[in-house]
Amino acid sequence: MYEYADKIASLLNRKIVREFSGIKSLRNFDEINVLEQVSAAYERIYRAALEYFLRLAERAYSDASSASAGIDSGFVRRILSEPDPVSMYVFDSEFDRKRLRLAEAIRASEGSNAEITRSMRLLSSMLALYAVTVADAATVKSYRDSGVERVRWISEEDKKTCRECRSRNGKVYPIDKIPPKPHPNCRCWIEAIENQPSD
Ligand SMILES: [Zn+2]
Repeated sequence: MYEYADKIASLLNRKIVREFSGIKSLRNFDEINVLEQVSAAYERIYRAALEYFLRLAERAYSDASSASAGIDSGFVRRILSEPDPVSMYVFDSEFDRKRLRLAEAIRASEGSNAEITRSMRLLSSMLALYAVTVADAATVKSYRDSGVERVRWISEEDKKTCRECRSRNGKVYPIDKIPPKPHPNCRCWIEAIENQPSD
């Protein structure tokens, strides 16, 4: 289900690693320059995220159904500016907080390589989590646009699956009442239930 989301997450991770290797070489610069350079790097990462997430949403949408409405350009922006249903974080604010925090750490001369690497990992895992969020949202939109009324929750059955996810496996929900995922990094997905022909 999430192969393409994982691919997008790994492309974004590569972008982040490249940008952060630039950031690691910044520490001897003056304060304003550090903030500007970190901000510029984060801005480039953000633009890449928008572009890749849009590609991901389009793919998830067309994989889910033959609905034709498609994904508009505001779709990803909306997801990133609204509270995430699982974590309740707003991507945009969290992204900005991470940017300022890193710039602050570097300026305060605590910007050890370990600190920068930690910031890099946190940013990368946030984008990986959002790849799943974007794929899920595009899938639900596709189902809705094609007239699906009910969906079935599918849990990944392995040792790591938590009790809550396991208990939802196979449950049917109206498309407008799908519960939020119980925890971040949940790899459950939903499948459409064909509408019964009324006779
Ligand atoms: Zn789950």
